[in-house]
Amino acid sequence: MQHVVIVGCGVAGTQAAIQLRKISREVEVTIVEASRYTEYSRCGLPYLVSGDVESVEHLFVHTPEFYTDVLKVDLKLETRATKVDSERNVLYVESSSGKADEISYDKLIIATGSRPIVPRFARVDSDAVVNFYTLDDAVKLKKLAESASSAGVIGAGLVGMELAEALTKLGLKVDVFCLDYPLSLYLDEDMAAILEKAYPKELKVHKCTPVDAIRPKEGSVEVHAKDGKYSFDFVALCMGARPNTALAEASGIELGSLGGISVNEMLETSKRDVYAAGDCIEVVDFLGSKALLMLGSVAARQGLLAAENALGMQKEIPPQIGVKVTQLFGYEVASVGNTTAEAKRKGLSVVSTKVATYDAAECMKDKQKVWVKLLADKATGRTLGLQIIGRRGAAQRANVVSLALQKGISLQDLELLETGYAPPISPLWDPLVVAVKSINIKLRRLFPTR
Ligand SMILES: Cc1cc2nc3c(=O)[nH]c(=O)nc-3n(C[C@H](O)[C@H](O)[C@H](O)COP(=O)(O)OP(=O)(O)OC[C@H]3O[C@@H](n4cnc5c(N)ncnc54)[C@H](O)[C@@H]3O)c2cc1C
Repeated sequence: MQHVVIVGCGVAGTQAAIQLRKISREVEVTIVEASRYTEYSRCGLPYLVSGDVESVEHLFVHTPEFYTDVLKVDLKLETRATKVDSERNVLYVESSSGKADEISYDKLIIATGSRPIVPRFARVDSDAVVNFYTLDDAVKLKKLAESASSAGVIGAGLVGMELAEALTKLGLKVDVFCLDYPLSLYLDEDMAAILEKAYPKELKVHKCTPVDAIRPKEGSVEVHAKDGKYSFDFVALCMGARPNTALAEASGIELGSLGGISVNEMLETSKRDVYAAGDCIEVVDFLGSKALLMLGSVAARQGLLAAENALGMQKEIPPQIGVKVTQLFGYEVASVGNTTAEAKRKGLSVVSTKVATYDAAECMKDKQKVWVKLLADKATGRTLGLQIIGRRGAAQRANVVSLALQKGISLQDLELLETGYAPPISPLWDPLVVAVKSINIKLRRLFPTR
């Protein structure tokens, strides 16, 4: 009987286990997980802090019994995989009590996720300085917030901004420090400026403000930033993540140029019978560039595909897109593909359009403004990216563009997209189609014969 071992019980590992069991009743499945938890919604952590998720229990996707009794998985929690011997098809593991063991496998799926980035200046030993990354971190932050009136957040990516909003909802005064401007990896500056207008009064964002020291004091934490020294009740670090490749490195599994585990289109690593999925791998995006996407949505799909291939299906992973969506300050924010800065870094020349329209028909009382920015490659006319901010529907419109990017659908064809119309739901011309029409006019003017 085939034995598939999965390392990591996060979203990629869990999806792999579910898919293995869906396909085969016979396959033996073991999950080795270093922490004491099975998969929980990491994406829900900011909402645990804000109280929008009622309790820790609500974050758990499945009970441990789901793994053991329904999936019939041999679940080994608090067990760390230390090395893969791919000559002998053996995984070395160590339990939290220090007991070493070996597990034989026919196929192995590495789904070890990522680790938070903590620069040297932020490596501070204090209960009031929290790396915001795991469930335990979120629980700790929530507790700190209960008796605090101010917080510093270092980093203004999706996680930093979601946490900042959560803390302001609890009534704290929050200062966010960032190197550029908030969400700069997902939004152009003119789009990010739309959100800025919606910041609550408790929030202050220090743009282009590097922090160079964090000093815990008696009852407070001092942040030394480019624009001055600030004192907070506690500080949260939200400075991004890197693939967790410790197991792969210890096992001589090849890494790629961006530092993630290198996989082929079937998610096979450089070692025989060893697959990898989720935050720990680097992928190829719709432009054919290497990318680290590190999203739960992406990890889930990769976990599933790794399982299918471990059972011999030989399925190829499509170009990876990485649709980023969030809700901040009453807006839905969505971004897919490249920002202008990212495209320029790749040496591309960008044509863009920005339209402001409504998310419902003009006649409707509660129509809301929606801003759509669409980017195309000047040289080829190909779609490069989309950013949308609106009160509703932004994410679903980005999902349409995700499909267009994955399937190589041209802007001319996207202009023909038939969208549904009913006054309260969408205007006759959907905001996405309005933006596509607008960029096509620009492109036609630039290249009348193309
Ligand atoms: C606060 C926060 C909010 C987020 N919000 C979103 C969101 O809204 N949408 C979205 O798409 N993404 C979001 N993400 C990203 C998303 O959580 C990750 O992309 C996703 O969890 C990756 O899944 P994974 O299975 O690859 O890794 P993980 O979920 O990190 O799981 C990896 C598991 O492997 C275990 N492990 C590691 N090494 C070993 C070892 N040697 N032996 C045994 N076990 C090991 C770890 O303990 C861990 O449980 C968010 C991330 C954070 C931190």
